Amino acid sequence: MPTTRDYYEILSVERTADGEEIKRAYRRLAMKYHPDRNPGDAEAEQKFKEAAEAYEVLSDDAKRKIYDQYGHEGLRGRGGPATHDFTRMNVDDIFSMFNDIFGGGGMGGGRGAQQRRGPARGYDLETEVEISLEEVLKGCERDVEFTRMDVCEKCTGSGAKPGSKPDKCPTCGGHGKVQQTGLGGMFRMVVACPNCKGRGSIIKDLCDGCRGKGRVPKKRKLSVKIPAGVQEGMAVRVAGEGEPPPQEISADGQGVRGDLHVVIRIEDHSLFQRDPEQADNLTLEMPITYTQAALGADIKIPTLDGEHTLRIAKGTAYGTVFRIEGKGLPNLRTARRGDLLVGVKIEVPRKLSGEQETLLRKLAALENHDVLPESAGFWKRVKDFLNP
Ligand SMILES: [Zn+2]
Ligand SMILES: [Zn+2]
Repeated sequence: MPTTRDYYEILSVERTADGEEIKRAYRRLAMKYHPDRNPGDAEAEQKFKEAAEAYEVLSDDAKRKIYDQYGHEGLRGRGGPATHDFTRMNVDDIFSMFNDIFGGGGMGGGRGAQQRRGPARGYDLETEVEISLEEVLKGCERDVEFTRMDVCEKCTGSGAKPGSKPDKCPTCGGHGKVQQTGLGGMFRMVVACPNCKGRGSIIKDLCDGCRGKGRVPKKRKLSVKIPAGVQEGMAVRVAGEGEPPPQEISADGQGVRGDLHVVIRIEDHSLFQRDPEQADNLTLEMPITYTQAALGADIKIPTLDGEHTLRIAKGTAYGTVFRIEGKGLPNLRTARRGDLLVGVKIEVPRKLSGEQETLLRKLAALENHDVLPESAGFWKRVKDFLNP
């Protein structure tokens, strides 16, 4: 889950810090906590990811404005801007995501994601969807809308102003790749050209649709299947619907998009709650009367899917829990349904009819209980006292 710490605090910058200061602060932390420098140190990795999250928000004017005004909640609610859950992301992906601030080659030199793990992936996106308990019971399909980067239509992704021609890159001579010396000259390797980022060309006239990036943020709508039995905070992964791979890699047709994680939020229900101990069980709190508790009763109760007749045994105590098997929620894996737990509370009537009161007084007399005097008699005596 994303951090709950203050982003300015994470980066140790003032709330008034400008873009350059934020960039410098992030660069410093990313270098300090990079897992390559802290092998096996989980805390360092977590700090590395936290810093990336803070930087993503504070380096983006729109997101920073929302954060300044509404805090973390503003960014995570429905309709908020798409942000990444860095805790789910691979360190290499995070590093290459902000690669431009580390000066092209980045920290590991040519150690790109591509050489490490087969085809390069774009990074993952996260969005939220809210569903009802009834939808948890049956499973559902939901439209989700989110923003992701897509090829700029104006320049078809080249980044150059339509009609203008990019120049051949002088650094790599148009090959897009250069040789780099690693580890103090011990070996040499071929890496993407830092000048043109592997494209082989330099753009003079930037496309005004994407300011030379070749990519623009675009709204996308998808229908997502949500399985029965999901729990609050779980995520449905939609493969290949995240961000595109880094441009220098996708340019030659390799690489795949990252994934979209649709995080499930479950609406509060007016009657049922999920059992905090066992998520497949539902709980229902049901008021019954004193006479039902004492004498027993068959009571029609609601379940998430239809009515059910529950027998309240004679002499049921306050707080008794009845278990109705198979009327809970389905288990995400086995589809086997949990139980409905009905907790009984006894309601005391606020108003009694004359006949009810008479009967209750008889009962009290039988039980030999000390009860308040009849109000009518009390007030009559008050009247007699005041007007002798
Ligand atoms: Zn080049
Ligand atoms: Zn463009």
